[in-house]
Amino acid sequence: MPIATVNPANGETLETFEAMDEDELERRLELAEATFRTYRRSAFAERARLLHGAADLLDADLDDIARTMTTEMGKPIKQARAEAAKCAKAMRWYADHAAELLADEEPAETDVKDSGASRVRVRYRPIGPVLAVMPWNFPLWQVVRFAAPALMAGNVGLLKHASNVPQTALYLEDLFHRAGFPEGCFQTLLIGSGAVDDVLRDERVRAATLTGSEPAGRAVASTAGEMIKKTVLELGGSDPFVVMPSADIDRAARIAVTARVQNNGQSCIAAKRFIVHADVYDAFAERFVAGMAALRTGDPMDEGTDVGPLASEQGRKDLEELVEDARRSGAEVLCGGERPDGPGWFYPPTVLAGIHRDMRIHREEAFGPVATLYRAGDLDEAVLIANDSPFGLSSNVWTRDEAEVDRFVRDLEAGGVFVNGMTASHPAFPFGGVKRSGYGRELSGHGIREFCNITTVWQG
Ligand code: NDP
Repeated sequence: MPIATVNPANGETLETFEAMDEDELERRLELAEATFRTYRRSAFAERARLLHGAADLLDADLDDIARTMTTEMGKPIKQARAEAAKCAKAMRWYADHAAELLADEEPAETDVKDSGASRVRVRYRPIGPVLAVMPWNFPLWQVVRFAAPALMAGNVGLLKHASNVPQTALYLEDLFHRAGFPEGCFQTLLIGSGAVDDVLRDERVRAATLTGSEPAGRAVASTAGEMIKKTVLELGGSDPFVVMPSADIDRAARIAVTARVQNNGQSCIAAKRFIVHADVYDAFAERFVAGMAALRTGDPMDEGTDVGPLASEQGRKDLEELVEDARRSGAEVLCGGERPDGPGWFYPPTVLAGIHRDMRIHREEAFGPVATLYRAGDLDEAVLIANDSPFGLSSNVWTRDEAEVDRFVRDLEAGGVFVNGMTASHPAFPFGGVKRSGYGRELSGHGIREFCNITTVWQG
């Protein structure tokens, strides 16, 4: 894939970029290592000052960077501004909390005595340059949720961003540079995916984090495994959204629409499979389909647009194939399902019913505004359908019955259970999945400790 800005609303190539050559990569890797040697000794207060500065700059740039993101990947402009604001908030959160999250720990006195020590401490030390392979769907947020904790922990970052968001990638390097971080603390590597393997094998790169598809995750994790380097993977999701009879059906249906089409449906934590108890299936389906059909699809720069184009021509083709496969196998199309004529990679909000296990869409991630509806006879069947997926990122359940909440929390195979609301990430809460959604956690104390050398300091 060329490294280029191509506007998905009309298919026009706006700017192409040369990939960095070997000499430039070598210079950047050397710089990353040299910077780490001194930056690792900086105080938390100094890192926090720099990160607060980056957050202030980001706030000032909010409109411009939002337009860049919308131009590069097509998200509605309002959502792009919200993403930039969320990034500034996460930077401030880590700036304010990292020292406390990484404070030395003292094991229980009896255990210290038992080991024969006079004192034992556990210290979280940085590990070095971390490679971040990132996707285009939240081109600022996915990077910031890695970069803010990494920089606060004393690590330095090397970003390999998706090839279709080079301007956002370059903006990020510039942002941290303007904020005053030492040169080399955060660098963007303009390279294609074929060049990642060599970077990952380089001894100066100590660990990697990847958000993206399963094949990309597998490639990075297997090389990292060979090199004995730690990885965090955040791969796809096909989150269930379960509606039980005691739920507020109007609200559930309204939030279901947002949960499915946020970011033009291209979100790992979007609700994708809507599993509804038979007693409220018709009432929910009617409201949900009406809500999906009423959305305004169009120019993502327009303030009134709900759903913009998909980010790439290939992404639309992949989504269409999933819908066609389901239709051929007997799925009922309740709304949408036909691509519009005209330029741009638009696809309408679509709801499919009558889904069964041998349809591809039941097992694969639908990365676009396409929802599948399932009817469940009872809670047990709802859990069975929800867990019948290779993914396990997050989940949503709608019920006012606390006993049901306990059952879902006990039984759903996912890294999150959101009750009477849609899944959203927050800097203070861990984020990540199980099964083929990946491993490790981002955000919160769990996220910042992933890339630390957890050091036992024993004193006799
Ligand atoms: P990819 O996984 O291909 O891209 C994500 C990142 O990984 C990009 O930086 C990409 O670089 C890089 N990459 C791709 N292949 C490799 C590799 N073999 N080794 C190292 N790095 C690699 O996602 P796509 O954009 O192709 O989207 C395909 C599907 O992936 C989507 O339909 C969706 O299902 C899923 N996806 C999930 C996301 C999530 O948030 N969970 C985000 C994006 C995609 P380059 O751009 O240069 O290829």
